[in-house]
Amino acid sequence: MSNTIVVAQDFAKSLYESHETYKEKTITKRRFGYQTLVSIIEKLKSVPLFEVSTGTKSTQGRDIFLVKFGKGKTKVLLWSQMHGDEATATMALADIFNFFQKKDKFDPLRKELLEKCTFYVVPMLNPDGAEAWTRYTALGIDMNRDALALVTPEGTLLKHLQQSLKPEFGFNLHDMERRYSAGETGNLATISFLATAFNKAQDINPVRKKSMQVIAGMNRALQQFIPNSVGKWPSDFEPRAFGDNIQKWGTTLILIESGGYKGDPEKQHIRKLNFVAILTGLESIANKTYQRRYQNV
Ligand SMILES: [Zn+2]
Repeated sequence: MSNTIVVAQDFAKSLYESHETYKEKTITKRRFGYQTLVSIIEKLKSVPLFEVSTGTKSTQGRDIFLVKFGKGKTKVLLWSQMHGDEATATMALADIFNFFQKKDKFDPLRKELLEKCTFYVVPMLNPDGAEAWTRYTALGIDMNRDALALVTPEGTLLKHLQQSLKPEFGFNLHDMERRYSAGETGNLATISFLATAFNKAQDINPVRKKSMQVIAGMNRALQQFIPNSVGKWPSDFEPRAFGDNIQKWGTTLILIESGGYKGDPEKQHIRKLNFVAILTGLESIANKTYQRRYQNV
């Protein structure tokens, strides 16, 4: 194992062990509702680091929040809960907002991330679905089949953000059914990653290759906590899905699916794994270490 890989794994371990410090205490269960998010966002508005905007409302008139921070050249767009009942990553994003407000041994990392990258975060893209605890938007539409038709205001917002910001990287954050296993291992897939395909032939172009490289690093980081429980999501091209189209539109897309973990019905352990995976991925993007650590993917 090369030195840089060891350093990356130690770094992930250190984040894993420190997660409790950054945990957003107002969220203790995965079904926490829209108002809890609103309170968290309200607090962010008074922190100079964050710029909060609300351009679009959901079908039922709820604000959808965009949180911007960092001053770097590399733009990264992250969104969670496109499916209303998939809240695990939203919890981790709330923890990440807290992480960026603290001062401690991770200061060099924060500095690096904020200098090299600009982050655009949409936590809870489907607030109506989150309130009703359903996959669908208030129009009864699966937003992830709306990337081309753009019938939903929420899906339209996501496309608008991708097209106007032109982020180099995108994180598409979901939950999946808990019954899936990690490859042939028979273990529950606790986290699954996918470098989403951009065409039916599943070709690898430079945009998708970067997805694979970032994912390789996140996978390595997580293996030490959940050995053989990291899965690879099937990569069939879905022409109407956002991930597939965003990859096609030129943003390197990383899909994270939160699955199941024994004894964790509220997905609090998986929340922590999301926190570690996302920050590990962002670190490799900020430092561009994904390029040299993981060349053979
Ligand atoms: Zn989903």
